[in-house]
Amino acid sequence: MNFSTRFAPSPTGPLHLGHAFSALLAYQAACDAAGQFHLRIDDLDQSRARPEWEAQIYDDLAWLGLEWPTPVMRQSSRSQAYQDSLNILWDLGVIYPCSCSRSDIRAAASAPQEGAPLLGPDGVIYPGTCRPATPLTGPMPDAVLRLDMARALAHLSGPLNFEETGASPEGLSGLIQPTNMITHVGDVVLARRDMGASYHLSVVVDDAAQQISHVIRGQDLFSATQIHVLLQRLLNLPTPVYHHHRLIRDDAGKRLAKRDDARAISTYREAGKTPQDIRQMIGL
Ligand code: GLU
Repeated sequence: MNFSTRFAPSPTGPLHLGHAFSALLAYQAACDAAGQFHLRIDDLDQSRARPEWEAQIYDDLAWLGLEWPTPVMRQSSRSQAYQDSLNILWDLGVIYPCSCSRSDIRAAASAPQEGAPLLGPDGVIYPGTCRPATPLTGPMPDAVLRLDMARALAHLSGPLNFEETGASPEGLSGLIQPTNMITHVGDVVLARRDMGASYHLSVVVDDAAQQISHVIRGQDLFSATQIHVLLQRLLNLPTPVYHHHRLIRDDAGKRLAKRDDARAISTYREAGKTPQDIRQMIGL
């Protein structure tokens, strides 16, 4: 297998130590395997993406010593590929339009069945208000589109699984076999009117387009991986090997966020730190 991995930051703020850790791990893995390291700009959310943050990403990663092939794939130029995949899912009858607002969903989900968790990888689990009794036919509407989880799972032949070479937040690794996706994940959003595609769809379509064999990313995305693997199966795309790594936390044990400017790579650079200092700070 040709080893190919990627780092896919969103240009919505400065890269911090957590990003440096993820990017350096992926880059090192590609070097060790004599494979490829790709940079991909996850600028799907055009209301938050800024060219200056994108420029800073290139600058910070180059300063850390990383190299990547150009031109870099940018999600904002991939609408057609996302649309094509949505059309496949529409024809399979596993997506449907949803007109619920966030407050509609919160109200309808506030009386969950006993024992059912309220929160999935995307927050409140959709209560199914707009889910049609039978798959819709005709042209795909320009609307928010949700995955009909039960129908999608019923469509699969054979069990759903993926190989985890890192660990879930609970320490699971090896062959992961997702279960209870109807109750614990539910009907996630795959298309938004303002963005075209949701994160789940775009990441799956782009990883396949770039022939990514190994996805290396933070443990915060472990619970989303089952959705990605399901979409790969529905779209007939290969499933990469996944490696979810530990998260870099602040002194209080909280995961670093984009607004943590104090831990931005650029702040350390301005303070005279070297790439080697950064590696030391994150235990590499
Ligand atoms: N763009 C995502 C993020 O910044 C990463 C997506 C991924 O690695 O799958 O969190």
